[in-house]
Amino acid sequence: MLPNIFHNGRQLSRIFQCTLQMYRQRSLTTGVNEIPLSKDHYNIKRGPFSVATDADIKHFESILPAGNQILLGLEETVGYNRDYFKYVRGLGAIVLKPRTSEEVSNIMRYCNNKRLAVSVFGGNTGVCGGSIPVFDEIILSMDLMNRVESIDKYSGILVCESGCVLGKLEEELAMEGMMMPLDLGAKNSCQIGGNVSTNAGGIRLLRYGSLHGSVLGLEVVLADGTIMDLMSNVKKDNTGYHLKHMFIGSEGTLGVITRVAIACPTATKTQNVLFLGLRDYSSVLRTFLECKACLGEILTSFELIDRDALECCIEHLRTSSPIGSYPFYVLIETTGSSKQHDAEKIRDYLEHVIGHGIVSDGVVTNEPSKITKLWQLRERIPEATYSNNFCLTFDLSLPLKNFYDIVPAMKDRVGHLVKLVCGFGHIGDSNIHLNIAGDELTPEIAELIDPFVYEFTRKLRGSISAEHGIGLLKPKYLKYSKSAESIDLMKQLKLVLDRNGILNPYKVLC
Ligand SMILES: Cc1cc2nc3c(=O)[nH]c(=O)nc-3n(C[C@H](O)[C@H](O)[C@H](O)COP(=O)(O)OP(=O)(O)OC[C@H]3O[C@@H](n4cnc5c(N)ncnc54)[C@H](O)[C@@H]3O)c2cc1C
Repeated sequence: MLPNIFHNGRQLSRIFQCTLQMYRQRSLTTGVNEIPLSKDHYNIKRGPFSVATDADIKHFESILPAGNQILLGLEETVGYNRDYFKYVRGLGAIVLKPRTSEEVSNIMRYCNNKRLAVSVFGGNTGVCGGSIPVFDEIILSMDLMNRVESIDKYSGILVCESGCVLGKLEEELAMEGMMMPLDLGAKNSCQIGGNVSTNAGGIRLLRYGSLHGSVLGLEVVLADGTIMDLMSNVKKDNTGYHLKHMFIGSEGTLGVITRVAIACPTATKTQNVLFLGLRDYSSVLRTFLECKACLGEILTSFELIDRDALECCIEHLRTSSPIGSYPFYVLIETTGSSKQHDAEKIRDYLEHVIGHGIVSDGVVTNEPSKITKLWQLRERIPEATYSNNFCLTFDLSLPLKNFYDIVPAMKDRVGHLVKLVCGFGHIGDSNIHLNIAGDELTPEIAELIDPFVYEFTRKLRGSISAEHGIGLLKPKYLKYSKSAESIDLMKQLKLVLDRNGILNPYKVLC
């Protein structure tokens, strides 16, 4: 399970709804019943779906005859009706836990015939409320589909079921001298099916690319129960349209992913982390450029932290900064196969950037315990910002030249009304997390933020959701990143693959 890293010891005193529907004042210790029901909070009208009857439950029992595969009643299903971030709450009173693709197929065929809506549930670490029902959708949990089918160390290909937890896959691969091409803070809870469905990014994307590149094949069960065999055990395959891409990042709205074939790199043997202080944003860009030139083939991560984000994290962790105070910090990770080779490259790089006055200060380490400490200063920023009474988080892709402009622009608008406006994130992937936190989220503050952030992003042709997806929280903002024509085509595709709209209704498309 996820460590309770967001625990902040506070109870929510008041939940209120402001003009912005997606924002709600709450802390991550908020009790389940304090989370407003999504249907009310987001004012959603129930779709034309049937209500499950005793006869339907009997049928599910015949499809899933083994014990522990069905949970019934809101008390039993409570953990499946609220998301990790406590943004959403549903009323799904039936959880089904298939063990095989055939069981998934039988469930979907039946639900489609009966017009029963289905919500697909992975590790429930998603940030946009995609895995939680809104009304009484049947919850399809992938927990029990957790078998690793094969690891081919020669071709570097892992084949597994979609309910495998990412961290467990990493452990299995390590035994074969391999590793997953993606890594993220939620790895001990999120499932590979959830990762693929959200096209998760994380801290290795700079080196290994997105899941659109590393996923070689998928098995997907469509809404009508058809099992689509899109599996492939080869890296090169130019035979017709690559349908798998439709399902990567589709957030469970087009099909249920049941199996995954994924290309995995050989495990690296060396690891170094550099933590550098920089006097301005142009130095950040120059540091990145030089980093790619000098450390290119061993570079794994290039992360940005601004001063406010670091100070907030340091205070929260009750620790101190490894270097002096600067407007910007970058955390660089390299991984490779030769200690000496990497050390020489890093030394040359540091001599160059410090010698040219690009980098002002820094530390470098290859000791695992120190590496963990440095990474905490980046990875635990969200938790630190969430320790405020409210925290709004945006996950934007912006061109690097203007990457940081959103932070001062937001400070100008709301800086005097909130406690914190900070920017941090995967700058190596052009992905910034903008967090705004304070004591009370008033409508006045909310109106200064939305739609400003989205319009700002649209003007720069960025993405309003770089790696978290759209889910339930952001369908109305999709238009800021996608043209009317592409949204229309998405709707047509949805209709082709799920004629009755039973799969993850109310999500992604409004
Ligand atoms: C501490 C923390 C750190 C995080 N760091 C990152 C990060 O660095 N990068 C990043 O991209 N995300 C990050 N996330 C977000 C989250 O972990 C990812 O989105 C993850 O991929 C979700 O996987 P899951 O199994 O938890 O999916 P869930 O939350 O269960 O579901 C997410 C969506 O996928 C659908 N889905 C799940 N399984 C399937 C399936 N088998 N078939 C079809 N649809 C399915 C659901 O219906 C839902 O719409 C973080 C989250 C936390 C809590």
